[in-house]
Amino acid sequence: MATPMLHPALDNGIAPTSESFTGGVLVCNCTDSPVRVRIEGQVAHNHACGCTKCWKPEGAIFSIVAVAPVDKVQVLENGDKLEVVDPSALIQRHRCNACGVHMHGPVERDHPFKGLSFVHPERFEGQGWAQPGFAAFVSSVIEAGVDPNEMDGIRSRLREIGLEPYDALSPALMDYIATWTVQHRSESSAKAAAETANA
Ligand SMILES: [Zn+2]
Ligand SMILES: [Zn+2]
Repeated sequence: MATPMLHPALDNGIAPTSESFTGGVLVCNCTDSPVRVRIEGQVAHNHACGCTKCWKPEGAIFSIVAVAPVDKVQVLENGDKLEVVDPSALIQRHRCNACGVHMHGPVERDHPFKGLSFVHPERFEGQGWAQPGFAAFVSSVIEAGVDPNEMDGIRSRLREIGLEPYDALSPALMDYIATWTVQHRSESSAKAAAETANA
């Protein structure tokens, strides 16, 4: 059976994290007037994501997505090309209206992820960004058109390259969401907060 292709930055060996990485500039796909976004410092919680909302490069079935504090994210150039994909979503994904690449996605609503912005480290001009540590929302790739019969192969390939597959977020992040929810207990339940994490 052929090795499933997941994402170009996963299929050919994962580039190592550099201890000296201090941030960089994300660039969209446009050759003309690209959007450039500065990220100060290393990204956190980098992972492969199988959800249908994340931006993925052509042909990839997973995205690679991480977070940075919103105050460490600065649009440098051509920010007038950015538009919010879905204003009702938890993550306010800002995409380039010309090439479609998602450049940053702040969470502004009251939620455990508030104050974080979701970014795609593969768009960094440089190397050394934190390598992905797990795979989230793996079963969701079926919603994007992957044959369910391929899932065993996809999960074993993810394990082979060191990315434990989960069908939600990692246990550490799910525990973080649940803990936040207990501390901020109101009308919403931990389960609801976890579900909106993928919205
Ligand atoms: Zn663009
Ligand atoms: Zn996703």
